[in-house]
Amino acid sequence: MIQIHSFAFGPFQENTYVLFDETKECVVIDPGCYDNRERAELAAFIENKQLKPVRLLNTHCHLDHIFGNGFVCEKYNLKPEFNSLDQRIFDAYLATADLYNLNAEPSPQAGNFLNEGDVVKFGNSQLEIVFTPGHSPGSITFYEKDQKFMIAGDVLFYGSIGRSDLPGGHHDTLIQSIKEKLLPMGDEFKVYSGHGSVTTIGFERLNNPFLLY
Ligand SMILES: [Zn+2]
Repeated sequence: MIQIHSFAFGPFQENTYVLFDETKECVVIDPGCYDNRERAELAAFIENKQLKPVRLLNTHCHLDHIFGNGFVCEKYNLKPEFNSLDQRIFDAYLATADLYNLNAEPSPQAGNFLNEGDVVKFGNSQLEIVFTPGHSPGSITFYEKDQKFMIAGDVLFYGSIGRSDLPGGHHDTLIQSIKEKLLPMGDEFKVYSGHGSVTTIGFERLNNPFLLY
């Protein structure tokens, strides 16, 4: 049984997730911890729960989702894993942070690229992946079909959707990803987004103004 803990980190209040199960192995998804205080908060949670981070996963490579990659990689001896179509965004990370006037810690290169259909294993648990581009070219969504939840990055939000006006974004592709990959998972699925509150597919299917037509 996977437990999910979230943090809202950094200047963009990005949701960082730690998923763990009864074995105490955990995965860190989108570590956005921006400064030493936030990095210490993440590390303290992992230490207090006596967790062992075994994978570092990025739903996509926008700066706010990878600010903490360097810290997590160094502390837990991991390499990030993301979809290769976000490599260009990853490569522009430090220059982008500079444009936002933010101090960014470099991230190690990907140790593994993730694709739709891949299974991410940790402890007794596993996450599956669907490819959900549109917010960024290589956005992926992690999901657990028995517990019925997904970690959707910036694809789908409570009452909203991810921006598609950033470099590499594409509005129609984003809507298609949501309608063809996420909604069919079923109304009961909980959606843990990259920003804001937890929602469900059922709520968004009925209420999300971007999905009404
Ligand atoms: Zn993003």
